[in-house]
Amino acid sequence: MNWSQLRGHSTQVEMLRRSLSRGRLAHAYLFAGPPGIGRSRFARIFAQCLLCQHYQDTDVHACGECSACRQMEAGSHPDFFWIGCPEGKNEISIDAFLGDPEKRPRDGLIYDLSMRPMVSRRRVAVIDDADMMKVEAANSMLKTLEEPPPHSVMILVPQNLDAMLPTIRSRCQLIRFAALPTSDVAELLLEQEIASTPEEAQAAAAMSDGSLQLATQLLNPGLRTLREQLYQCLSSADMNSVGSAKAIIEGVEGLGSESPVQRRNFSWLVRFAQEFYRQALLEVANPGAGGPSLTLDVRSFAERQRKQGVAGTELIMELFDRAVEAEVHLASNVGTARAIEVLLDDIGRISRKRRKLAHA
Ligand SMILES: [Zn+2]
Repeated sequence: MNWSQLRGHSTQVEMLRRSLSRGRLAHAYLFAGPPGIGRSRFARIFAQCLLCQHYQDTDVHACGECSACRQMEAGSHPDFFWIGCPEGKNEISIDAFLGDPEKRPRDGLIYDLSMRPMVSRRRVAVIDDADMMKVEAANSMLKTLEEPPPHSVMILVPQNLDAMLPTIRSRCQLIRFAALPTSDVAELLLEQEIASTPEEAQAAAAMSDGSLQLATQLLNPGLRTLREQLYQCLSSADMNSVGSAKAIIEGVEGLGSESPVQRRNFSWLVRFAQEFYRQALLEVANPGAGGPSLTLDVRSFAERQRKQGVAGTELIMELFDRAVEAEVHLASNVGTARAIEVLLDDIGRISRKRRKLAHA
């Protein structure tokens, strides 16, 4: 892999190139930024550069042809180590750092980094999901970060920088990454065949906050069905809040029982509700602006509100605000399913109250 296979982040490449050409390679880097924007990929390419036999400080480039590069591509470079949180787990075990209890201390990442490189000039380790290190594991890494073996480079890639222990953070050079432009996310979705049409890619990218990971989640068929279900409910003239909430919550539960997955899907629902009202507002202000890709549910809801004049616009704005508030509820201690029930209940209530006012 080389830098041409990375989307965006050229500022960060340039920054590393400048500091390395001044001889300032750090022993530990902390790559911070939103999830799903390619930081892990960046870390892997950077590692390959550092291990490439033709590496030069002034260039920071991997030739792609030497035996070290070929071993990196094949995933068999003996001086490269990758640790991440296993699928379905919510922590990186201490064994990854200290090794299998029976083989300690001659096993695990800390031991591996202390050994001399086998084929390259240094040993490089990437710790993906670095914020998932338990305190015990993080503490075991502290000494290595304080007194790094001279030939070692560590790259930590946390999902959430704030969840990192300050003692770890302060021992790493922080590099911040920004979200990708929407157009890049849309192109990546098409390139990687995650989206099947440009319209689909564009719509998912627009809601992704510049994260390929979020855009990919959004295109999950189960989540799409859930969005359609929610849109139908939001567009109906006489919404049955209780029945809809029940069906939607069952839909979320059907998509996965682990609580992080459910929390994520509930927060998507809230985003979908915001998006529904945002599109409706645009459509009321400028009919037809949403183009052919605007769903029928939004269109019919917007048409109905447009007939109400100012009152219709005010209703949509109030409902939009309520959906924004739901995000706060989700982030606080309100149970996730409960937050959705309350949101739909409020939407029903606000709509009825406005309708009564209109007829009074
Ligand atoms: Zn090479």
